[in-house]
Amino acid sequence: MPIRRLAPAVVNQIAAGEVVERPASVVKEVLENAFDAGARRVDIEIAGGGRDFIRIADDGEGIPADQLTLAVEAHATSKIESATDLEGVSTMGFRGEALASIASVSRFMLESRTPGDDEAWRIEVIDGVIGSPAPTAGPPGTRVEVRNLFHTVPARRRFLKSETAESARIAEVVRLLALARPTIGFRLVSNGRCLLDLPATDDPRRRIVGVLGEELDGRLIEIRGEIGSPSDGTLTSVWGLVGLPETARPTAKNQRFILNGRAIVDRSLSHALKEGFRGLVEPGRHPVGVCYLEMNPSRVDVNVHPAKTEVRFREARPLHGLVRRAIQEALQEADLVRNLTIETPVDPPAGQEATPDRPAMVTRSSWSGPGGSSPSTSHATSLRGGSDRSSTGRSPTSTGVDLARVREAVGDVPMPTATPASPTTSAEEVLPTLVGADAVLQVHQSFLVTQDSEGLVIIDQHALHERVMFEKLHDRYAAGPLESQRQLVPIVFDAEPASIAALESLAPLLERLGIEATAAGPRGVAIHGFPTLLVSRRVDPGSFLSELLERAAQGEIDREDHEAALADVLDVMSCKAAVKAGDRLGEREIAELLAMRDRIDREGSCPHGRPTHLRIPIAELERRFGRSPG
Ligand code: ADP
Ligand code: MG
Repeated sequence: MPIRRLAPAVVNQIAAGEVVERPASVVKEVLENAFDAGARRVDIEIAGGGRDFIRIADDGEGIPADQLTLAVEAHATSKIESATDLEGVSTMGFRGEALASIASVSRFMLESRTPGDDEAWRIEVIDGVIGSPAPTAGPPGTRVEVRNLFHTVPARRRFLKSETAESARIAEVVRLLALARPTIGFRLVSNGRCLLDLPATDDPRRRIVGVLGEELDGRLIEIRGEIGSPSDGTLTSVWGLVGLPETARPTAKNQRFILNGRAIVDRSLSHALKEGFRGLVEPGRHPVGVCYLEMNPSRVDVNVHPAKTEVRFREARPLHGLVRRAIQEALQEADLVRNLTIETPVDPPAGQEATPDRPAMVTRSSWSGPGGSSPSTSHATSLRGGSDRSSTGRSPTSTGVDLARVREAVGDVPMPTATPASPTTSAEEVLPTLVGADAVLQVHQSFLVTQDSEGLVIIDQHALHERVMFEKLHDRYAAGPLESQRQLVPIVFDAEPASIAALESLAPLLERLGIEATAAGPRGVAIHGFPTLLVSRRVDPGSFLSELLERAAQGEIDREDHEAALADVLDVMSCKAAVKAGDRLGEREIAELLAMRDRIDREGSCPHGRPTHLRIPIAELERRFGRSPG
């Protein structure tokens, strides 16, 4: 065959493969056009999972009649003029290929009216052949209709999933875009049934709850942060809502990032979100969060992929830190110690509402007041309002102790039972509210009962110790390799090939943690050295490492990212090394554990996301005993 130029319709069909993968991509492209046209409301109607029919109507600025034909031609756009405009492009579209691509693989209709015109105009494209515009009746704004998607590309059509699956993907795209644009109203109807109805709102939190689910109402905390400076155009900010640790899900589906109004997918940002919750959410579960990032458009390249969901940042690292820190700070402020209200027939006092699984300070009532409130103020008030602290004037540190001083005095706190003699006195010194160690009671060899300025505190000794171990190991690791005890005779155990592969990728990290191990044949692992710390905690090297490697082989330990891998391994180490429920603790050990608690005072959960301590507020006790609070 001689070389020849392909007809434009064929070129478009080929290009369509990139932009229009499935019905949901049509919905995405058309909705983004509506955004760029300044729409305040969009209506989406689909049938047959979008394969048979998609109709999207907006109330945006419309397309003048004489430009309708251009709108459906390839590489025709009103959004950029030259390649330099790509630097800092702020519209969703700019490639001018979406409508042409969609029209080339469907029976396509575009109808539009600008506010100045008194009639609408419509144009049809059948299998890539553009008809001529004709006047029609219709309101200002634009309507796009797509029928029989991919009917000329059977290969593509066959590749689509079931109707239900394609509808679900469309709903997912609409939800995502709705998160990106709270001020636009969205409605999605599928086969005549309304799937989504999201009224326009100025309060992003309303939209977030509307999209992620009402059950999150009152269980989200606000994050906020900023880096760079406006003077040199490097200012980058984040605002968002993240779910309390208990709301974490089995999948990462409810983690969303919106960059300059564009929903994006970014590994590094997802990782930052996960890191922000480090130690508070069980491995294998995923925190919920929607983060809105704003930055100078010239510092990010959105033209990496036709669908523009992946972007390239000029500098990704500072962004990672920004998101992670914003989350950590918000979680710290939220004091995750759970206030416990005993299930009771007694009516709680007005305005206060706490359940065992919901911290009192972020209550439903503080969120969903009529009319909503601006994101900048209302959350801060709800945090303080419910926590009861500002009203009593008590210090945020439970024991009233200056944390910096504690750290100085306690220094590198020894592990209970792992240390010879002494620091009982230092524990007393740093815990002035404790009347010696006898103010703490070990109950059923599992729980410690004590008090803080707000009430009665019940501590899960294993969870707390695990949490402390994690922090301590993390600090130790930063200071240098952990001390390892060499085995005279290597400890050998059987291992699956997947575990051995995991060992190979984790070996350098494990070595720094004091675990020296090598493959012993195709189905065995030999341990040559084991951390002194774990030895002193009587952790069995063989079962420890074989479990660790199995978990890694199953993907529970992140092997790609060093920081994440470290934290995952430390999770396992601290869990195994921590005192167990049922371990009897001596007076000194209890005192030490409590002293350590102050170092991590504001973190109310163990690395697996369970609470380390619960508090019964004094007010609750007074109520239970029929006393008037005073
Ligand atoms: P791009 O969005 O990359 O410019 P498209 O093929 O999606 O390319 O759209 C081509 C042009 O058609 C746009 O640049 C815009 O001028 C016009 N257009 C498309 N959809 C709409 C709409 N809903 N409202 C107003 N103008 C639109
Ligand atoms: Mg477009």
